[in-house]
Amino acid sequence: MKRRSKTRELVRGIFATLAGLGFLLGMVAVAFLLLHIFYQSIGYNPPALAAQLFSTLLGMLLAVAVVYVLIHISGATRARQELRMFRPIVEALERIAKGDFSVRLENDLPIGVVGTLAQSVNTVALELDQLEKMRQEFISNVSHEIQSPLTSIRGFARALRDEQIVPGDRERYLTIIETESVRLSRLSDNLLKLAALEAQNMHFAPQQYRLDRQIRSVLVACEPQWAAKSLDMDVALDELSVAADADLLSQVWINLIHNSIKFTPDGGSVRIELRRRASQVMFSITDTGIGIAEGDQAHIFERFFKTDLARDRSHGGSGLGLAIAQKIIALHNGTISVVSALGMGTTFTVSLPAD
Ligand code: ADP
Repeated sequence: MKRRSKTRELVRGIFATLAGLGFLLGMVAVAFLLLHIFYQSIGYNPPALAAQLFSTLLGMLLAVAVVYVLIHISGATRARQELRMFRPIVEALERIAKGDFSVRLENDLPIGVVGTLAQSVNTVALELDQLEKMRQEFISNVSHEIQSPLTSIRGFARALRDEQIVPGDRERYLTIIETESVRLSRLSDNLLKLAALEAQNMHFAPQQYRLDRQIRSVLVACEPQWAAKSLDMDVALDELSVAADADLLSQVWINLIHNSIKFTPDGGSVRIELRRRASQVMFSITDTGIGIAEGDQAHIFERFFKTDLARDRSHGGSGLGLAIAQKIIALHNGTISVVSALGMGTTFTVSLPAD
């Protein structure tokens, strides 16, 4: 294989040399002819050796000049060709810079540098397009979440203007206004947390502390909610320490425990366990609540996702709690997973590296 290509190179070399010599001889012949015409026109007859020398010299000069002109022309043509090939890429980049991310370059561009560049431009445009769609979706989700509490605040504030309103109703309207304001402020708080977690500029200060104590204190703080629903809280926490950011992790337990209470009907039960399994600390929370359909389970960690059952206004969530919890757990190199059956209940399991 190598030998064949060497022979091919040798043959090509011989042909190139012969072509070069032929071209040179041709130029010398042209020079001879031109000089001959020139001598005749001035009536001069040079000695044979001088005539040969002059025509050889002029032939070589002519050859160099022709080669120079040819190189120049072919260079200019190639530059023009390259410019033509790059034009669609330049135009696509200009459109992207103006915010038009729908640009796609045809696949019939030549392979090599131009083709690779075109592919990269397509990838960049596609990614920017997806980002833009996510941004618009985010804005529309936030507006939607803000709009519903604002509408009820406006409505009940207007109703309060009525002087004939009975005291019981007044109290109820004020409570709704207060609840909706708290909901708005929680939404803004969650949005800020999520933004900080996504930008990875969250203050992250891991320290060794007793995880079981932290979970127990969250449970105590939630007592008014679970007691109001007469939930049976079954708690089994091993004494375990972890190296983690206590403020951040506390948010995870709050979100998971609140969800279990929120989505479990009155009289149901919630079981919370904390155990050590090999090099992991495992937290699990199982409720006998409404459950999550199989198709929804893959989406519950997405921002703003709520199942149809949870869209019921009485739950009052904005679909950010699990997205925040997942990001905090990822920050601690842990995992969170869900097992659920519609109408039967749900288990969330968090696994964190033990120290
Ligand atoms: P939300 O603020 O709406 O509770 P989350 O991000 O915490 O938002 O949860 C997203 C969705 O996942 C909820 O709206 C609900 O549909 C579902 N979900 C979460 N936890 C549970 C649970 N324990 N039981 C049933 N559904 C749940």
